[in-house]
Amino acid sequence: MKFSHFLIKYGEIAVKGKNRNIFEDALGKQMRLALRRVDGSFVVEKKTGRFYVHCQGEYDYEGAVEALQKVFGIVGICPVYVFEDNGIESLKENVCAFVDEMYRDKHFTFKVQARRGNKKFPLNSMEINADVGEALLNAFPDTQVDVHHPDVTVYIEVREAFYVYSTILPGAGGMPVGTAGKAMLLLSGGIDSPVAGVRIAKRGALLEAVYFHAPPYTSERAKEKVVDLAKIMSSYTDSFKLHIVNFTDIQMEIYEKCPHEELTIIMRRYMMRIAEAFALESECLGLVTGESIGQVASQTMQSLRATNEVCTLPVYRPLIGFDKQEIIDEAEKIGTFETSILPYEDCCTIFVAKHPVTKPDPEAIRASEKLLEGSIERMVQEAVKTAEVISIKPQ
Ligand code: ATP
Ligand code: MG
Repeated sequence: MKFSHFLIKYGEIAVKGKNRNIFEDALGKQMRLALRRVDGSFVVEKKTGRFYVHCQGEYDYEGAVEALQKVFGIVGICPVYVFEDNGIESLKENVCAFVDEMYRDKHFTFKVQARRGNKKFPLNSMEINADVGEALLNAFPDTQVDVHHPDVTVYIEVREAFYVYSTILPGAGGMPVGTAGKAMLLLSGGIDSPVAGVRIAKRGALLEAVYFHAPPYTSERAKEKVVDLAKIMSSYTDSFKLHIVNFTDIQMEIYEKCPHEELTIIMRRYMMRIAEAFALESECLGLVTGESIGQVASQTMQSLRATNEVCTLPVYRPLIGFDKQEIIDEAEKIGTFETSILPYEDCCTIFVAKHPVTKPDPEAIRASEKLLEGSIERMVQEAVKTAEVISIKPQ
């Protein structure tokens, strides 16, 4: 069956009281943006507390569903058959035609679930259920009614027209992007941070991101990989700014002056400081990382404490309780995994010590950082000043 309309179900945002309009407007905006990337012409309409997508003429059905499935805030996407209200007889006929076309094999159980939005319609929802149910049983003798566990639920909405659907494709859930504040993601080329960024967007946050590279130790191709990851993410997160920071001098300075087993922690602290400088400039309300407790030496609780210490903004770590496999599963689902595992060098791994501290003592770390005083401040300023900004847009 060719559908020209989708009924969009949204969950959590419906309960937001006075803020409901803000949430619905953000959802509408994100849906329109998502559908811009799909072949076809679409009109997104908000009507009587619901969203509809009207598809005009030929369009890419799979593409439209896929795009809508990336819009946070949507819980269900229902391809819906819409026809004029010509009374109950025409409703019965149209529902039978719909079921006939949708289900070749008629050996199934069903129930009809009607809602009467138009209170002028002469039958109430119970009566519609009974009448249409009977019509279906007569038309398709192999079917049976099962009101508890039906194979097929035929939903009917009686409004200014009739709306019939029996498929609810899952949406991404969450809150529409743009309904929370902005967050600064530390985006590496790895598996974790893209997943963390998309997770934060799922709660409605807008993103900005920062990537630290260390040319010539890290290649142009490693940077391109991060840009590619950001582009994949942006089909969920909306467009965002990516700051590319040249971290080479800072890393070399730490390497030369600080104990090698503390390199990673000190480096991570400088990343956080620089990320926070961009965050404050862009009015972000927090930083985001892909860290998870115990994953590597720099992510023990002691290390996280030491890294956290230099930030004044909250640091959001959406993956903190995730196992690596769970993160990989999610990376596969959002489509970043294949890019993340491409083998390009990362600035963290180049200067890594053989035996990094796993339980850094904050006092000792602060003492080591004293060794950088006098040179590092200028380097940090320079790194912030010379950062390249790339505007990331979904493709
Ligand atoms: P990922 O898979 O996200 O790279 P990881 O397992 O490699 O994570 P680390 O290298 O310890 O872990 O990094 C922890 C977090 O620090 C990352 O999730 C990311 O948020 C941030 N980070 C690490 N390296 C960089 C970098 N080069 N640029 C920006 N952020 C980084
Ligand atoms: Mg990494």
